[in-house]
Amino acid sequence: MPVKPLVEILNLPLPEEEIYRLAAAVPVPLIRWYRQNARELPWRENPTPYRVWVSEVMLQQTRVEAVKPYYRRFLEALPDIPALAAAPEEQLLKLWEGLGYYSRARNLQKAARQVMERHGGQLPPSYELLLDLAGFGEYTAGAVASIAFGIPVPAVDGNVLRVFSRLLAAESDVMSPAVRRGYRRLLMETMPRESPGGYNQALMELGATLCAPNGPPNCMACPLNRICRAYLTGNPAAFPVKSPQKARRIEEKTIFTAVSPEGILLRKRPAEGLLAGLWEFPWEEGFLSREEISARLESWGLIPRKVRTLRPARHIFTHIEWKMEGVLALCGGISPPEGTVLARWGELKTDYAVPSAFSAFLKAALAAREEFL
Ligand code: SF4
Repeated sequence: MPVKPLVEILNLPLPEEEIYRLAAAVPVPLIRWYRQNARELPWRENPTPYRVWVSEVMLQQTRVEAVKPYYRRFLEALPDIPALAAAPEEQLLKLWEGLGYYSRARNLQKAARQVMERHGGQLPPSYELLLDLAGFGEYTAGAVASIAFGIPVPAVDGNVLRVFSRLLAAESDVMSPAVRRGYRRLLMETMPRESPGGYNQALMELGATLCAPNGPPNCMACPLNRICRAYLTGNPAAFPVKSPQKARRIEEKTIFTAVSPEGILLRKRPAEGLLAGLWEFPWEEGFLSREEISARLESWGLIPRKVRTLRPARHIFTHIEWKMEGVLALCGGISPPEGTVLARWGELKTDYAVPSAFSAFLKAALAAREEFL
């Protein structure tokens, strides 16, 4: 099948050669700027393949500042691939607790085990072999291959798409897979051979700092402003063009935070799906009335001394939003009903990974504990 020209894929009123000329003019000024302006980040010191890999996985959908403490703790506890492959699931999830998108942690471990079996415990210096590991998509394989091994492949994330769609002032929808493939092709064909990792990091850095997603870009300080077509239009923030996202599904829940002098009532989420295998408070679908709440507590054999209404909370996932109301049941003692456990206060921090979706309720439970001391 003939290859479709980029002018068509990216919907640009430019000759094909002009697109390539603009893309080829990016590496030299951008890498120079990056060398002078790169932020000091923990994963940039000593960028071994393992360290690059862990940081790239943690940084997916997560802010740099939020990742830093997790990254340090994770590497202290699991300093190499054999340690990651052998870690108990509870330890892994505890290290990831609060970072979200927990399938990333599971895939990290699955891939570490594959690396132990297939590659003697070392990440392979090959884009194709990396792509074959659990959790490695084109982006992660490209980032590890280029940064850790100097292989000239692109790593196209949202930052890179934003920079390039602005550079070209492209009207095409960056959410479209065909458009993303188009940018990847353009980058692949214009990558500098001598510093591919530096180039990929420089693009990401520009997209995370000067050419950031929220608010107008800082074009005056940008090393690409002489060639950037969006800057020349006078309205660079109009790019990239994105199709409207589908509305999130709303789910309403009533959360039961039952505490006693010994501990707190928790249950484990199913092994598959959203927040798989993590610990949560028992909850029911919908917002229950006072009578329904009392009936539910009774059916679980709980006889609280007091029941308090907690402040409502919400949590946003990629495609779902949870709206939560909650109650705090202060009990003299708890015999955990079927499917739940009584997590002892002393073990809560070490043995139970509770996702941040429940953090408001966990905070209320921890504050309530004081009433028993
Ligand atoms: S000139 Fe402005 S819009 Fe263009 S790449 Fe630089 S920061 Fe982004």
